[in-house]
Amino acid sequence: MPRNFIPRPSHYAPDTLPKPPAWQDEAACGGIDNSLFFSLAAIDIAQAKSHCGPCPVRSQCLTHALTVREDHGVWGGLDEFERAGLLKDVRRAAERQRRLEREREKAAEQRAADADAQSAEQEPVQGRPADATAAA
Ligand code: SF4
Repeated sequence: MPRNFIPRPSHYAPDTLPKPPAWQDEAACGGIDNSLFFSLAAIDIAQAKSHCGPCPVRSQCLTHALTVREDHGVWGGLDEFERAGLLKDVRRAAERQRRLEREREKAAEQRAADADAQSAEQEPVQGRPADATAAA
């Protein structure tokens, strides 16, 4: 071993540091048969949702499912169709917002162009009286 070798403690020390709590640790569905949450039977889905109602980490669970696009199962009290509908609503709202912003920008550009055109009309041409065409 070289004289200046210092072993890095993280490689050798046991993993005794406390881990930050994960939202899954507080899940109301912990210990419940998972197949209930991934069943296609309406009665199972309803029963799974009944566990989600009072779950203290419901919002974290739903956020996770929406973030990673969980395609199947009940997460955060919503089944896959409800989550898909929610994502569709969010996409529509974002698209509507973008369209409104584009229309606002367009209107502002048009107003600026109109103002430029109006000021150009009112500006007399250099070296020529404003009513030169009338005199000619
Ligand atoms: S919200 Fe439902 S699926 Fe999510 S952790 Fe709670 S009980 Fe489980």
